[in-house]
Amino acid sequence: MTYDENNIFAKILNGDIPCNKVYEDDYVLAFRDIAPQKKTHILVIPKGKYMDLVDFSTNANTDEIVGFYKAIARIAEDEGLNENGFRSIANSGEFGGQEVPHFHMHLLGGEPVGRMVS
Ligand code: 5GP
Repeated sequence: MTYDENNIFAKILNGDIPCNKVYEDDYVLAFRDIAPQKKTHILVIPKGKYMDLVDFSTNANTDEIVGFYKAIARIAEDEGLNENGFRSIANSGEFGGQEVPHFHMHLLGGEPVGRMVS
């Protein structure tokens, strides 16, 4: 599989499609999900072209990986998610239910998120 340059998050990253931005630095962009599943639903994506968690973990450099997780911690604090807890989910591939083929982490919270798998 190769990275789809026309996926929706690639278009958000290059500014072709707007987003409700929460946070940005050299390594990540974070924005609110267009169809929030919980009171707070944020998507955190690396700026590099990675398809999924395995692609990112295998091919991203150390700065990108550290930057990604440091950003998640910062967003969780800034958005108040860490106060009462939250859920982070990275869907991968067909069985994982991944719709957008650019690696992303969902941050869900602001209210109880319920069972992990329905
Ligand atoms: P996945 O199923 O790939 O893990 O999650 C993709 C997420 O991207 C979904 O929660 C969906 O609502 C969100 N999404 C899809 N298109 C857009 C968009 O154009 N803008 C934003 N902000 N979110 C999107």
